[in-house]
Amino acid sequence: MPRFLVKDAAKHVGEKVKIAGWVNVRRAHGKILFIDLRDISGIMQVVFVPSNKEVYELAETLRPEWVVEITGQIVKRPENMMNDKIETGQVEMSVESLKVLSQSETLPLSIETDGYEIGEEIRMKYRYLDLRRERVKRNLIVRHKVIKFIRDFLDQENFVEIETPMLTKSTPEGARDYIVPSRQDPGKFYALPQSPQQYKQLLMVGGLERYFQIAKCLRDEDPRGDRQPEFTQLDMEMSFVSQEDVMDLTERLLILLVQNLFPNKKIQETPFPRISYKDAMEKYKSDRPDMRSDKNDKDLLAFCWVVDFPFFEKNDEGGWTFTHNPFSASKTEFEADLLGKKNIESILTSQYDIVLNGFEIGGGSIRNHRPEALEKVFEIMGYKKEIIQEKFGHMMEAFKYGAPPHGGIAWGLDRVFTLLLNEPNIREVIAFPKTGDGKDFMMKAPSEVDKKQLEELHISVKKPKAKK
Ligand code: ASP
Repeated sequence: MPRFLVKDAAKHVGEKVKIAGWVNVRRAHGKILFIDLRDISGIMQVVFVPSNKEVYELAETLRPEWVVEITGQIVKRPENMMNDKIETGQVEMSVESLKVLSQSETLPLSIETDGYEIGEEIRMKYRYLDLRRERVKRNLIVRHKVIKFIRDFLDQENFVEIETPMLTKSTPEGARDYIVPSRQDPGKFYALPQSPQQYKQLLMVGGLERYFQIAKCLRDEDPRGDRQPEFTQLDMEMSFVSQEDVMDLTERLLILLVQNLFPNKKIQETPFPRISYKDAMEKYKSDRPDMRSDKNDKDLLAFCWVVDFPFFEKNDEGGWTFTHNPFSASKTEFEADLLGKKNIESILTSQYDIVLNGFEIGGGSIRNHRPEALEKVFEIMGYKKEIIQEKFGHMMEAFKYGAPPHGGIAWGLDRVFTLLLNEPNIREVIAFPKTGDGKDFMMKAPSEVDKKQLEELHISVKKPKAKK
């Protein structure tokens, strides 16, 4: 007999069906035993009566979180026993047979509540149990639905989903790289991608025209409460587009997504308002202004675009560095300044950031597709010819062979989910998040590795200095 999800089983009144899942609660009502059986789809009330002696006695031994398979008849509950609070509340199962598939010890944490009140360390250590919590489970299901919606939308718009490598080259992209030692090339290292930026641009040179990826990005940044060392971007790149085209596509997708999957939410203003970096700083003292007219309304979404960022800023050593992305083009009116390396402080980039309720949820730009312009960016940053060649030679070379003009954007998906689901931090929308300082309490990572592994990699570890 096939197994039904409880949500579907509930539709088969009068029929004999099989269900399986976890014992949510067990309670006795006089001589009658009730179990709430939980599976991914919901909860079903299951009834054991003493006349079915063997099954009844087995049912008496059941404890919360045991995994069971039950066969029985779906019957309508008496009027006064109906429960509107659960989807299957009109019916219950009258049991014929019961099989215990797995027992459970008492859980080390409660899974009945929202869980906000439970210490994070214990939630993370037992994340596989924490995931049984209704709220966390629902977050992951909504996450899946949003990603599916995005995929379907982009497919309709002729985008191709393409995977790019995780083992790549360390290049200065703004954050610190996670690096991976090469066993076969002792002393050499791969880097994990901070974003697929260079690959997606190379895909445009490759003629793919419209690329996207639900991409993992890895950045070794200093711990900060709400940051993850690895996070997920919706990464996109398009050929033959203007800034307007990329912004228009982003806007259409965001609006449709909210309308279809979060109908309770209200978008404050469409088209999304735009503000220059200069005005944002003057008016809101922030380059990610919170434009909500009512900050108490949890269902109000105030999107806005921030544009006209300076291309370069001074770094700690007094030289120039890029504010967002070295691969961006300047705004057209500053092309001559960029090529002539003049008036550097006033060059504006084609960068556009998308902001939601005071959080930056994405950003992108039109890129420099001419090698000479890209080279100027690196020269302004003080890179010597050899370094440019060593670090970015592949990009310069690629752009020599008919590179189409292109541009793109990436959304920080974890942040988008956090805001749409009204969660207080991004760990609530990630299946297996790390703590703010990059630890995985469940797997106990990072961890030491075998001496043999280090030897194979020609690595010797210096004793770390004692922490102050
Ligand atoms: N690669 C950029 C980032 O990760 C996004 C982009 O410009 O497309 O922020």
